Amino acid sequence: MPQMTVAVVGAGIAGLTLAAALRRADIDVHVYERAPQLSEVGAGVQLAPNATRLLHRLGLGARLREISVAPEAIEIHRWDDGALLQRTLLGERCRRRFGAPYYTVHRADLHSALLSLVPSGRVHLAARCTAVSQTADAARLHLADGTTVEADLVVGADGIHSVVRDALVPDRPRYSGQTIYRGLVPAERVPYLLVRPRVRLWFGPGRHCVCYPVSSGRQVSFGATVAASDWQQESWSARGSVDDLMQAYTGWHEDVTRLIGAAEVVSRWALHDRDSISVLAHGRVTLVGDAAHPMLPFRAQGANQAIEDAAALAGCLAGAGSKGIAAALRHYERVRLPRTSRLQQESRDSVRTFHLADGAAQQDRDAAGSVTAGPDPDDWLFGYDAEQAVAVRTTAETPV
Ligand SMILES: Cc1cc2nc3c(=O)[nH]c(=O)nc-3n(C[C@H](O)[C@H](O)[C@H](O)COP(=O)(O)OP(=O)(O)OC[C@H]3O[C@@H](n4cnc5c(N)ncnc54)[C@H](O)[C@@H]3O)c2cc1C
Repeated sequence: MPQMTVAVVGAGIAGLTLAAALRRADIDVHVYERAPQLSEVGAGVQLAPNATRLLHRLGLGARLREISVAPEAIEIHRWDDGALLQRTLLGERCRRRFGAPYYTVHRADLHSALLSLVPSGRVHLAARCTAVSQTADAARLHLADGTTVEADLVVGADGIHSVVRDALVPDRPRYSGQTIYRGLVPAERVPYLLVRPRVRLWFGPGRHCVCYPVSSGRQVSFGATVAASDWQQESWSARGSVDDLMQAYTGWHEDVTRLIGAAEVVSRWALHDRDSISVLAHGRVTLVGDAAHPMLPFRAQGANQAIEDAAALAGCLAGAGSKGIAAALRHYERVRLPRTSRLQQESRDSVRTFHLADGAAQQDRDAAGSVTAGPDPDDWLFGYDAEQAVAVRTTAETPV
């Protein structure tokens, strides 16, 4: 008999990592995904040591090494003359300091790697959840085809527009006023970006651009923000116009304009987040990933936090048994909320700092940046071990 059954809504990065981590903990898990086919968007994602150490433990070390790029550094430049404002060394230094690498990876490659950890019969496609309900003894997923699935626990991993979240909080996504254009460019069109693999950002008045190599260095992924009060569409598949994007970045350093000019297609997405919440679970229902804490992408931590959530929740549930779910969820909520709320806020605050107009505040920001290999300010972020964090329990919180 399995110790507990879990129904996960959504087969994105959060849902698949959770399924893999629950399976490792010998917990019976099924994932319900609304899409008829599994796919990820054509874009990159940065994975920091706080997530890669967890993925390594799930058995993905060799696979990640194969599909990713390990950038040497994160470098921030000025928008017009390209002057280097800040450099954070990664590469070997990151591995030595945090015991895990920093990677840049194509989302589809990461998604396939995660999927390889989940037995095929466990992911149910074309299974759109319309609502959840619960009694004292069980939680239920109601699917669009009229069927109902019963489990000991339901986990919403269904992204920023989560249906499962509706059962916990009556809030809505908030538009940030920013849109992002994303594109992938074959490496041979932008060889100057591959000389030393780096995550590169350019900060300028009202916008910024970020790029890094993915797909073992075969492509460069970029994201370029443009403020827009009237652009509310939120979809990866919405086409943007390369000409509009070029126009918005007129006068920027040629490393940026050459990159944008090398793109054939770009997608455009209105960036939303939500306020942080004080409750992460209700009875037998809880949340992971963007369903729990959607954040703007400016700290590059949304997927990393989704992976942390998955490892932490599986750690809380391991050995808890059906009767220990309430205590396990309280522990999960107590450990996760302060960290993810901080990152939601920092991600919001980054918009103002990244997009300062030239002037005194911008000069102060730039003067504070360091281009030397000084102490890493991100210890609390990259050095964090989500599994260790939930392993520390007081007696009162131990599941019964
Ligand atoms: C431009 C941009 C750049 C980013 N860059 C980074 C980065 O570099 N590093 C980083 O860590 N994060 C980054 N992020 C954030 C990251 O992409 C997200 O935090 C992460 O993808 C969230 O994963 P998720 O699985 O929680 O949600 P999602 O990826 O949204 O997955 C949700 C899944 O649930 C399914 N679903 C939804 N509703 C239902 C339903 N009712 N029934 C069944 N299934 C359903 C969906 O089809 C989907 O498969 C970035 C985000 C953006 C927008």
